[in-house]
Amino acid sequence: MKFARFGPAGHEQPAVIAKDANGVERHYSLAPITRDIDGAFLAGGGIDRARHALESSNLPTFSPDGLRVGAPIARPGAVICIGMNYAAHAAESGSAPPETPVVFLKPSNTVSGPFDAAPIPPSSEKYDWEVELGVVVGKEASYLSSVEDAAECIAGYLVANDLSERDYQLPGAAGQWTKGKSLPSSTPLGPWLVPADELDGGSLRLRSWVNGEPRQDSSSSDLIFGIATLIHHVSQYMLLEPGDVILTGTPEGVALSGRFLYIQPGDVVELEIEGLGRQQQEFYRAATPAVQASAGLEGNAR
Ligand code: ZN
Repeated sequence: MKFARFGPAGHEQPAVIAKDANGVERHYSLAPITRDIDGAFLAGGGIDRARHALESSNLPTFSPDGLRVGAPIARPGAVICIGMNYAAHAAESGSAPPETPVVFLKPSNTVSGPFDAAPIPPSSEKYDWEVELGVVVGKEASYLSSVEDAAECIAGYLVANDLSERDYQLPGAAGQWTKGKSLPSSTPLGPWLVPADELDGGSLRLRSWVNGEPRQDSSSSDLIFGIATLIHHVSQYMLLEPGDVILTGTPEGVALSGRFLYIQPGDVVELEIEGLGRQQQEFYRAATPAVQASAGLEGNAR
């Protein structure tokens, strides 16, 4: 069972993809049981309700042909990221593996669909891909007392791209990474949200490609800090809410390593995680809005 959302950005419809009685994979609308796949849906036992509705044949089928694929979770309250959580990636970034998790935030307005065309910022020369296992929080978590309790808070998993501008993140950061991690549409999610009880997130192969050439190829079994450990840790510092997304870090094989070119306009980046599907973005150069440029000129004239 895989959850997905289809339709124009901001107007996606909730769906579930599952095999029918004949073993044929079909798309079913979740409209009879929920308005969206969001934190309230997950916290209210939505995954079980969807499962029961499927078993009772209470969901209408539909064809996804021609429909945009949205992020599989409605806009999260928070996108929480873990930095340098694979030893080989820490090394290619010129850092020692961290002794405690590196935690940072991305604005939730960076979330975009898994196949949406992706903008490179107007003056960016070092835009980089990062395939990551994303964890969707299923229930509120605050000051958790054990890693076992943290494991209970996982609703499911998805593919994420933590697009990063390295000049803004590192030399331009003046100490921390927000400027390089907040760019519009820099967090493609999906195509699917797969429930945690159907998949072991701890040993999934993660891969990425640029224009068909392989870049990253690792396993989530190489995470320095495991998924439940991360949730337990993060809950000591912030309230995790249902629907929040935690990106668990990227493995080696990004352009920051110096081994590959950064993303160029026209490039196609693909990311895949075993069991969670594949996403693909074609990149273009974002234009500076004309209205913004003229406003700047007027400002200078005064
Ligand atoms: Zn990342």
